This record gives sequence, C-alpha cells and structure tokens, in this order.
Amino acid sequence: MEYRNISLKDRNSFGIEASCDRLVDFVDAEDLRQVVSSGLLSEMPWSVLSGGNNILFTGDYRGVLLHPVGREISVLSDDGTQVRVRAQAGVEWDDFVAWCVERGLWGVENLSYIPGYVGAAPVQNIGAYGAEVKDVIESVETFSVETLKTLTLAAAHCGFGYRDSVFKGTLRGRVVITAVHFVLSRTPAPRLGYGDLQAKVESMGGPSLTVIREAVVAIRRSKLPDPKELGNAGSFFKNPVVPDSVAQALKKQFPDMPSYPGTVPGTTKLAAGWLIDQCGWRGRREGCVGVHERQALVLVNYGGATGQEVLDLAARIRQDVQARFGVEIDMEVNVL
Ligand SMILES: Cc1cc2nc3c(=O)[nH]c(=O)nc-3n(C[C@H](O)[C@H](O)[C@H](O)COP(=O)(O)OP(=O)(O)OC[C@H]3O[C@@H](n4cnc5c(N)ncnc54)[C@H](O)[C@@H]3O)c2cc1C
Repeated sequence: MEYRNISLKDRNSFGIEASCDRLVDFVDAEDLRQVVSSGLLSEMPWSVLSGGNNILFTGDYRGVLLHPVGREISVLSDDGTQVRVRAQAGVEWDDFVAWCVERGLWGVENLSYIPGYVGAAPVQNIGAYGAEVKDVIESVETFSVETLKTLTLAAAHCGFGYRDSVFKGTLRGRVVITAVHFVLSRTPAPRLGYGDLQAKVESMGGPSLTVIREAVVAIRRSKLPDPKELGNAGSFFKNPVVPDSVAQALKKQFPDMPSYPGTVPGTTKLAAGWLIDQCGWRGRREGCVGVHERQALVLVNYGGATGQEVLDLAARIRQDVQARFGVEIDMEVNVL
C-alpha cells in the first residue's frame, strides 16, 4: 500500500500531530527493490517508520516513510536444544516474545512488552531487565538502498552496544532491515538479577518462562505510562556512561547516586533518571509537555504538543543535568 499526505498521529507513540508526503508499506527486499527502482527515494528524503515508539516528529516529514508489514515467523532449524528462528521486520516485537514463550523457547522473555516491531529491535539493541536483544540475535537481513542488494549481517558485524548499533550509525539511511534471525534455547536460563524481578517472579509462582513474562509485563504496566493514554516514547534519554574517575568524584559529592559497571572496562553507567530527578524535573509539567511523575526518564505529551516543544523541554533538562553534575545525557529517541 502507498499513502500520500497522511497523518502520523496514530503512528507515533508520542501522539504528535504531523504528516508525511508518502508512506509505503513493504513486505520484503523485492518490494523495496521496486520502490528504489521507481526513483522515488532519490527524489526526496526517506526513512523507516516501524511502530513509531522511538521517533519524535518535529514537523511534517517531507519525504517517504518505508513501513514494514511482513509478519512471518519461521523456524530455520531445531536441534532439540537450540532453535533458530527468523522473524520478518513487521512482526510486533511482543507477539514474537509471546510466540517464543508459548513454544518454551528461552532468550527474549525479559524483553516482554517492549513496544515496537522486530525490525527495529536491532537498531537500538533493545534492552530491559538485564537482557539485550543482541544476546539472541544471530544475524540481521538487510536491503541496501544504494546497491539494491540484500546482505545478511552476522551479529558480530552489527556493532551492538548499549542502545546502539551500526543501524543507528554508519548504516543509517543506507539499509533497511527486512528480517532478523534469532538463536533461542529450550534449556531454562532465568535471568532475575535485575531490580524487583526476582521478588515479583517468586510471588507469582517461581521462574517458569510464562511467569517471568507475566512478571515483566506486570512490572512494566505498573511503572510506565501507556502511550495510548499518555503520549511518550519510553526512556527519552540514555543512561550516560562516564570514565570511572568521573563517577568516583561524583560519588564523593553525591553518595546516594546509583551507578553500575559499564560494559567497557574503566567506565561506569549512571542512572539518567536519578540525575534528572535530582534536578527537580520529575512530575514537572510545562504546557502540553512534561516529565512523567513516576519515571523521570520519560517525557510525555499531555495532548496537543508539538515535537519541537518536546525537544525544547529535553534541551532544558539536559542543560540542568550538565550544570549540576557536569554530565551529558544523550537522547535515546530518534528525531525526524
Ligand atoms: C512505553 C515505552 C516503553 C519502552 N521501553 C523500552 C525498553 O524497555 N527498552 C528499549 O530498548 N526500548 C524501549 N522503548 C523504545 C522502543 O520500544 C524501541 O526502541 C523499539 O524497538 C521501537 O520500535 P518501533 O517499531 O516503534 O521503531 P520506530 O520508532 O518506528 O523506529 C525507531 C528507529 O529505528 C529505525 N528503524 C525502524 N525499523 C527499521 C528497519 N526495519 N530498518 C531500518 N531502520 C529501522 C527508524 O528509522 C528509527 O530511527 C520503549 C518505548 C515506549 C513507548
């Protein structure tokens, strides 16, 4: 399907009113090849819009949005222990998690209830409750808009990092993800070490796959605003990663400051939500926009906000955190 001048309000979780010149559905690389061959993408800017849960529109998009609609999930191999699964880019991420849990496949249960599509999951290497999608990705199928060729990138070549990948960096605007290959396991491997998950799982009957999924869903529902009720894009900022020496100096000044070992040796991850909260932003509202009352990382649209208003609020928060702690907090959300 191809749409012209359509509203994106119901296609972005912030609920920002914006439109785009064209929106083109695609199932697979063949569909994309036809779009590129038509010359459309060389005439105007283009980007991919999947579920719109991590995008902030700052105005009407004067270009083409490619929208994945392929929703096939298939088993590539099953040796009784390890199961390799391919999911097309348009599969709802949480439907994929449910599919795995129903079949007794471990690996993605901690990532339950993250909104969005499978094809977007590698882009920022989605993560929650001590798990990251990179841990179960074998490879990512891509279509190059420059060469019209398909290329399957092994996980080792995807540059996965904390909320990061090559798809946010060097390959942005050059390739479209059409499917993802996962390696899942029938061997139980509960990961309950993060936050209040262990206690919740125990209270719901112990660490089976189904209980872990239900516990994650219950915790997330209680903590995060539902975009259908209050526009938001989850965490607006990434947790900053600083050299250990910077973290130690801050700890002397702010002994209660939470910190975690960074994935790169010599670095420490700080909690952006805590830093923002300390600057007095949690629960603050300015016109149509504000900071969520239970979660300082989440910026919200109370209704009728423009993307620019959200961006301006984000800039003021970043300035305050910089002035108080000397720490830069980067945006997790993609601005279009
Ligand atoms: C309430 C809420 C809670 C959230 N919680 C979490 C969380 O716990 N952990 C977490 O990591 N994230 C979280 N997020 C962020 C979001 O769910 C993820 O980033 C998700 O992967 C976005 O998927 P999407 O389909 O909506 O992508 P979109 O928002 O449509 O796109 C995101 C980016 O990826 C690009 N992109 C999308 N699809 C493709 C593709 N097929 N090929 C190439 N580029 C593509 C887009 O161009 C854009 O730059 C949350 C968001 C919300 C609203």
